[in-house]
Amino acid sequence: MDIDRIYIDPVDAKQAVLDYCLRKGALAAGVADLAALERIAPPGHRPSDLMPKVKSVISLGVGGQTQGAWSVPAKAMGYFGSTETRAYTIAYGAAFFIESKYHKPSIYCPPDMDNEKGPRVPLQSLKLHAEVAGIGARSLAGDILLHPDFGYMYFASIFTELELPPDQPMAENPCPAPSCVAMYRQIGRTPCQKFCPVQCLSGHIDEDGKQAEMHYDMAACAEMSQQYEAVPAMLAEAMAAEDDGSREAALFDPDNKMLWYKMSVGSGGLLAQCFECMRVCPIATKSPEADPIRRSIAKAGQ
Ligand code: SF4
Ligand code: SF4
Repeated sequence: MDIDRIYIDPVDAKQAVLDYCLRKGALAAGVADLAALERIAPPGHRPSDLMPKVKSVISLGVGGQTQGAWSVPAKAMGYFGSTETRAYTIAYGAAFFIESKYHKPSIYCPPDMDNEKGPRVPLQSLKLHAEVAGIGARSLAGDILLHPDFGYMYFASIFTELELPPDQPMAENPCPAPSCVAMYRQIGRTPCQKFCPVQCLSGHIDEDGKQAEMHYDMAACAEMSQQYEAVPAMLAEAMAAEDDGSREAALFDPDNKMLWYKMSVGSGGLLAQCFECMRVCPIATKSPEADPIRRSIAKAGQ
């Protein structure tokens, strides 16, 4: 059988692939415009830099926290990690699905960091894929993508040589929510800006209640939330200690002992956000299908 000669209807194939993602647990899935990604992503991070013959980029999102998680104290929230590995599992499965059904080379797009560029530069921006595929819009909370129905999601991408028609980015951005605009008018800050523990978010909302400007101090957020960067810093401090007491203090300080604990149990908390910006975000926590309880109620009402 000459598989290259079999006609594949792109619209049907797109439906089948997106249905697969939703059936396996994604809340939203879409196809990003490859030409737009190639134009926007910097050299070295374009889809074709990872997969030269790529024809389509599929993005999917899975639900974030349960409703109960938003009420736990900060010290517990730091352990909640995320559901992102579920998104990656679906993306792996979708790549297998496309290859077995359509015989087109496909990959799960690694969500990981570029080992030539350091721990803050990803190989690919999954966020850009999701935004261009229309399943999330950039928020005032450090550009975290939000969805008007599902709130806060984790994203994964699939690259394939199967040609699929692209979706469009969202026409409307749910951020800032009306209540955030009201708070901003009163105190000059939105909830995410006000409650970020390291004050790394700032920006402006214009007269129409839309985002005008957003600033995000990535280094301050990373220090708070991406604790894998704290490990080498703590080791360097211990190695440079002038005496045994200082070395012991560097290694066994209660905060640092928590890092050892998280590493020993493989906790996603080493990579997680601190979540405080999302805890106070009305889109992340109160969108109609933001958590399993809301989704179940929405489903029952259909
Ligand atoms: S994750 Fe935490 S530190 Fe980072 S922006 Fe959100 S609230 Fe601030
Ligand atoms: S709290 Fe949420 S909706 Fe409000 S401004 Fe921040 S990110 Fe946007």
